[in-house]
Amino acid sequence: MSQVRVRFAPSPTGFFHIGSARTALFNWLYARHTGGTFVLRIEDTDKERNTDEALRVLLDGMRWMGMDWDEGPEVGGASGPYFQSERQAVYDEYLLKLKDAGRTYEKDGAIWFKLEGERTTEYDDFRKAEVEKVKAAPVVIDDAVRGRVERAEEMDFVIVRKDGNPVFHLVNVVDDIAMGITHVIRGEDHLSNTSKHVELFKAFGVEPPVFAHIPLILKEVGSGKMSKRDKGALIEEYEQRGFLANAVRNYISLLGWNPKDEREKMDIAEIVELFDFPGINKGNSRFDEKKLSALNTEYLRELNIESYAFLARPILHTAGVISEEENEDYIQSVLTLCQSKARSLDELPDFCRYFFSDAYALDEKTGNKIAKKGDPKELLAEIVPVLDAVDFEADALQAALEAHAESKDVKVFAYFPALRYALSGKGGGPDLIPMLVVLGKQRVLARLQAFVG
Ligand code: GLU
Repeated sequence: MSQVRVRFAPSPTGFFHIGSARTALFNWLYARHTGGTFVLRIEDTDKERNTDEALRVLLDGMRWMGMDWDEGPEVGGASGPYFQSERQAVYDEYLLKLKDAGRTYEKDGAIWFKLEGERTTEYDDFRKAEVEKVKAAPVVIDDAVRGRVERAEEMDFVIVRKDGNPVFHLVNVVDDIAMGITHVIRGEDHLSNTSKHVELFKAFGVEPPVFAHIPLILKEVGSGKMSKRDKGALIEEYEQRGFLANAVRNYISLLGWNPKDEREKMDIAEIVELFDFPGINKGNSRFDEKKLSALNTEYLRELNIESYAFLARPILHTAGVISEEENEDYIQSVLTLCQSKARSLDELPDFCRYFFSDAYALDEKTGNKIAKKGDPKELLAEIVPVLDAVDFEADALQAALEAHAESKDVKVFAYFPALRYALSGKGGGPDLIPMLVVLGKQRVLARLQAFVG
C-alpha cells in the first residue's frame, strides 16, 4: 500500500450534486490508482442542514456509484471519528497549539488567527472602517492542476466564532493534519481558501499536502456553474431515471479529465489505471446530457437481456405500461427489440408503450409528413391483404412486402413509414420487420384495419 491518503470531505445538504460526486470520484480514482487510502470525512458542522437523511442520500449515492471508502462512517478507521461534529476535542487540542505558539488572539468574542508580517492600519472602502492589514509573505501553491498559484493573505481571520464553533478553515486543516492527508483534491471554488489553509499548516509546523483544484462543471448552456436545479445535477435522480451507475461514473470521470486520447467508454479498471493529475483539464468542463445518454445507451446495449429486463420491468410497471399479468415472453421479446434503441431506461415507457396497449397517440408531425407522400390509408389498405396472407416471420414478411412493392413498381420502403405510423403512432422506433413479428399478426391486422377505417 502506498502512502497516499486522500479524502472526500462533503457537507451533507440533502443532495448528492454532480460536482461533489466528481470530487469524490477523482479522490477515489487517485486512491485506487496509487494504491493509497480513500477517507470519507463528513463536514457536518452546520447542524441545521446536516440531518441523518442528508447523510443517507450522500452515502447511498457513493455506494450506487461504487465508490467504497477505506476509512469513514460505517467502516471506521484509525483516524476517527469521521464526523466533524464529534471531533471537538481534536479542535481544542490544535487550538491550544496555535495559542501556545502565539498565533491567536481574542477580539469581539471570536478567536482570530494571527498572520505574520508588518501591520498597518488602513481605511477599507469595502468595510467602510479602519482595518488592520498585514503584509504577509505570499503563499505559493504548486497546484497539481493549476500550476503555480501565488496569493498573499492581507488580514487576520476568525477561526472560532463568537458562538464557540470553529470555522471551516480551521477544522478542515486540522482534520487534514490529524488524518494524515497527503493530497487534497477538491473543487476550484476552494482555491481562494487555500492561502489561508497553507498559513494554518505553516503555523502548525506541518508541510501542506499536495493541492489539486479541479475546474468547475458548467451547465449545459450559458456560462453558469451547474446548480442543483439543473437537469442532471443530482446523482440520486439518475438512479430513479434508470441510468446505469457504470455509465454515469464513466461519464463523470470525463468531466474535467481525459486519458489524452479519444477513448471515452472505459470500464472502471481502465479508468483507475489511467487516472492521474496530468490528465485533469485546467479549463472548465460542460455538462452534456446527450453525451451522457449516448454513453448510457452503449452500456445498456451490453447488458444481457435478463439484466436489461430486470432493470426495465419496474420502470415499465411504475409507468403503467405493463401489468402483473403481462406475458413474460412477450415482455422479453419487446425489450430485446428496444434495448439497442431506447437511449435511457426513463425513455423506455414512451418508447414501447404501444406494444402493450392499442390506445397510443398518433404523432401529429409524423402524420403530416407522411400525408405529404400520399394518403397513408390508401397505401395501407393495399397492404392489409398481403399481411393477412403471410406467416409473421421475418423473411416471409420481407419477401411478401417486397413482392407487393414490385408489383406496384415502387420500393418496399415506400410503405414503411405509414406502416410504422399506423402501428405505433411514431416516426421512429425499432426496425420495422422485427417489430411486426413481435407485435404479431393479430395485433398488426387489427390496428391496420382500425387505421384504414
Ligand atoms: N466541506 C467542504 C466542501 O464540501 C470540503 C472542502 C475540501 O475538500 O477541502 O466543499
